[in-house]
Amino acid sequence: FGKNRRNAAGYDVTSPDELSPLKAEMEEEVAETFRACPLIGGAEMRGHESKILNPANHAEVVGIVQEADADQAVDALNRALKAKPHWDDKGADARADILNTAADLFEKQGPRLMALTMKEAGKTLNDAVAELREAVDFLRYYANRARADFAAPMPLPGPTGEENRISLHGRGVFLCISPWNFPLAIFTGQVAAALAAGNAVLAKPAEQTPLIAYEAVKILLQAGVPGEILHLLPGDGPTIGNALLSDPRLGGVAFTGSTETARLINRKLAERDGPIVPLIAETGGQNAMIVDSSALPEQVTRDVLISSFQSAGQRCSALRILFVQDDIADKLIEMIKGAMEELHVNDPQYLSSDIGPVIDADARDILVKHAERMDKEAKLLKAVAAPKNRPEGTYFEPRMYEIESLSQLQREVFGPILHVVRFKASQLDKVIEDINATGYGLTFAIHSRIEEKVAYICKNLHVGNAYVNRNQIGAIVGVQPFGGEGLSGTGPKAGGPRYLHRFAAERTISIDT
Ligand code: GLU
Repeated sequence: FGKNRRNAAGYDVTSPDELSPLKAEMEEEVAETFRACPLIGGAEMRGHESKILNPANHAEVVGIVQEADADQAVDALNRALKAKPHWDDKGADARADILNTAADLFEKQGPRLMALTMKEAGKTLNDAVAELREAVDFLRYYANRARADFAAPMPLPGPTGEENRISLHGRGVFLCISPWNFPLAIFTGQVAAALAAGNAVLAKPAEQTPLIAYEAVKILLQAGVPGEILHLLPGDGPTIGNALLSDPRLGGVAFTGSTETARLINRKLAERDGPIVPLIAETGGQNAMIVDSSALPEQVTRDVLISSFQSAGQRCSALRILFVQDDIADKLIEMIKGAMEELHVNDPQYLSSDIGPVIDADARDILVKHAERMDKEAKLLKAVAAPKNRPEGTYFEPRMYEIESLSQLQREVFGPILHVVRFKASQLDKVIEDINATGYGLTFAIHSRIEEKVAYICKNLHVGNAYVNRNQIGAIVGVQPFGGEGLSGTGPKAGGPRYLHRFAAERTISIDT
């Protein structure tokens, strides 16, 4: 955030004085049924209608979405192409002012945005606070980065008395495809970055979470982003993707989601005629934690629970494989089992819920299938029990399995399932090799008090975000730039100083005197 660095304050939900009025305001906000529709040129469009149900309680219709079709997507692209030069010409300072205004409005409407995130995505209150803060941080951080890097050309003194300057400009129209697991933060982050860099944007939120995206776009438009520059296209991924990704006029794509979908997008972009454009992809992980015998078991237990089960494990950063040195394995596993016993998996409307539902039936089916396979091939260490009374929703209780080796897991399983592998001190290099061999490289954590070992492991693992003696989720904008390597993504890192550059074209001008 530059000299006056400040992340969003959020809410202290442990303080009753702050919590009671917040809850009252949130309840009032979600009394209505929400809606979303394509927003093209600032106008509301109609489309195929479908219902969004609360994943924590299927009896509750959170809102109605009108889905965009292929023609509307192309119409939005045509309009964005026409309007784009004006936005770039406006300059980075003016664009940053608008994004900062949006950040203030997000904070003002915080209770509404958080309440909707909880209802539409099944987030707990703590997760909803974090979402709001991250969205606000992205807006302010990218506004500041645009001011720093885009507002004025950088002079490059030449040897001959020539005047040389390099400047950054929007590339054109960016398609931003965002995931349901951070329906406010990642949606806003992608859009804010593309806008800050001087692009027009076609925003395609996940099918599961269009309502919160609609609210976010409404605020951005209210803050002063022209309707011809930012268009919202809720709806079916393949329909909208096929219509836009084959169009040679698209200037780039920002995508967060699965590695498979990123590959598909990459192929589509490669097959079209016309310029070669950037794909900024943030994809999955097969994230590990290594715990050696010098670690503090209480601290490890807390960090394992947070890393594996917070947000129902539905973070690409979440811990999937815990490597524990055999001397302390039995003790640590017992402590983790004990802590898991205390987890409450229920509708986030009850503040006692630590973990909400997973996003939908498809997501749950994948977890159930994986658990069935693990029941046969691994040792079940702990399965959290479901409460007796709970609304009908897509819940999955956390599980912990012991496996022989990482090779038993073929791919990322997106949910609250933790796998434990024991290792001997002499096998450390093999552990590092196995983690690297997954091909993913997103997050990693090490719990150890031996500095040389920490340094050795961090140097030899190919991961984007390494955490030492702490949990491995919840990267903070501007402080812990986030993103992986290999199968985990292309970079640059979201919330980092170079993120905007991939959204930009560079121009050099050389003037003889
Ligand atoms: N940035 C998030 C974190 O650090 C994860 C983002 C994701 O799941 O896509 O936990």
